[in-house]
Amino acid sequence: MTKASDLTVVSNIDDENGTVLNLDSGLCLLTVHAHPDDESSKGSCTVAHYSKLGVNTVLVCCTGGEEGDILNPEMNLPEIKDNLAAVRSNELDNAAKIIGYNKVFRLGYRDSGMPDSPANSNPECFAKADFDEAVKRLVKIIREVKPQVIVTYGAEQSGYPHPDHIRTHEVAEAAFYGAADDKKYKDLGEPFKPLRLFYTVWSKDRFLSMHRKFIELGLESPFDEKWFERVQNRIEEEVTTSVDISDVAAVRRLALLEHRTQIDPNSKFWFGLPDDVLDSIYPVDDYHLACNFLESVDSCKDDLFEGLWKS
Ligand SMILES: [Zn+2]
Repeated sequence: MTKASDLTVVSNIDDENGTVLNLDSGLCLLTVHAHPDDESSKGSCTVAHYSKLGVNTVLVCCTGGEEGDILNPEMNLPEIKDNLAAVRSNELDNAAKIIGYNKVFRLGYRDSGMPDSPANSNPECFAKADFDEAVKRLVKIIREVKPQVIVTYGAEQSGYPHPDHIRTHEVAEAAFYGAADDKKYKDLGEPFKPLRLFYTVWSKDRFLSMHRKFIELGLESPFDEKWFERVQNRIEEEVTTSVDISDVAAVRRLALLEHRTQIDPNSKFWFGLPDDVLDSIYPVDDYHLACNFLESVDSCKDDLFEGLWKS
């Protein structure tokens, strides 16, 4: 198995400008996502930002995304439908390169499908799989790559209650605490204690900023009354941390476009605004700090690694 010290740079998003990654920083950011494309829609610019600063960046994708609908009409072809898992795996690799991930792990579970769909009862799906086994797989990775910071989803997912997203939260949280436990998982490597757990937040402010910009530019907004009602009624994790991603703002758009089966390049929701406007309209990624073991730092307003940088 690859050790953190063996990780190689699969991409350097700023290599045209000669940026040299500093892999000696000793810092590692691990993100845990449910499906291929979640790593691009949630916090991708943050990962690119820290990758540029020399932080090792590691992605764990829990499922293969086999149940995803093909949302781009151009890709709705029999040969793609029949090989969706392989196609999405390839899309994931391409997006991860754009984002600047150093390493991608697949946890190896099957997509559980949308709530109340037949795929929910497949015994191989992530939501049905043995919980402790899933935690073990993630603990093993955490003990191997030794991330100070882990990013995943919060418990509150009423806005998009996908069984795999709920399970991702549960497994990531259990592994975050479990990796440090020297009485558990003895055959999975030396205990390692990650210092911080963050949840990604798609804030109401982000939606409102986009909506207002559509109106300002005289464009039809994809956000209608019903949408706002849903967003307004959604319980949202408190935003404790906003990371300035203006130096890498195009990454999210470019990474999303690599998920060609899942993302329609003509989607108004994703790309209805001109590229430069889209890239600059909301130049932060929002997070909720769920756990912080570094007692010398009591808040992380704009930096996931606050207090962790070598001086
Ligand atoms: Zn997902």
